[in-house]
Amino acid sequence: MFVFAFSDRRLECTFTHDSYILIFLYSKKGVQRYKKNRNYANFSVSLTEKLQKKVNLFVLFFYFRIFAPKYKTPLNRCEPMITITKIFHYEMAHALHRYDGACANIHGHSYRLEVTVTGPVITDAMNPKCGMIIDFGDLKQIVQNTVLNQFDHALVLNSAMVVETHGRAFLQNQFGNIIFVDYQPTNENLLVDFAQRIQSALPTDITLVCLRMYETNASFAEWTPNP
Ligand SMILES: [Zn+2]
Repeated sequence: MFVFAFSDRRLECTFTHDSYILIFLYSKKGVQRYKKNRNYANFSVSLTEKLQKKVNLFVLFFYFRIFAPKYKTPLNRCEPMITITKIFHYEMAHALHRYDGACANIHGHSYRLEVTVTGPVITDAMNPKCGMIIDFGDLKQIVQNTVLNQFDHALVLNSAMVVETHGRAFLQNQFGNIIFVDYQPTNENLLVDFAQRIQSALPTDITLVCLRMYETNASFAEWTPNP
């Protein structure tokens, strides 16, 4: 039989003679060879000598495609996950279409947006970003370009509201930076929009893990990716 021993990041396997035969019999060629060589003893001897390398490759494939993914999550739990967070402040006005409270009127908030990302810490000593997940300055630039440049000091309105009032041109002429969105511009919906914008601009090895946005000192919404 064969034995798999899992350590943190490497595989140790021990095989006996029978395990090669057992594994080889699962392959198509193995079955054909076995049928030709009904004499089990002869078959096993020739098999060990000629096909050892092929069987080793098969076992490695078996491990990495079937065994390793199953054990990936518990193994990763042993490794710490480091996140970094950058905090932004911006001003924005909005009005909630057909809302049954005071926020149906155009009004403003001083928003606090917390952007949290994770990724591998760079270990290459020659890389100027060694020891970082991503340079805070780069993260700031990404959020600035994808979100703040458009939404800071803007009036955000549900496009459904403007269709009813036919006031889009009027508002733009009067106030300038008006953003019409196809959703109710609540804290929750804005976070979904912002998450998509930021994610699309992050480097491929950096993952957005949390967005938290305070609408007031006492009220915030949080976005996290679906598991
Ligand atoms: Zn509001």
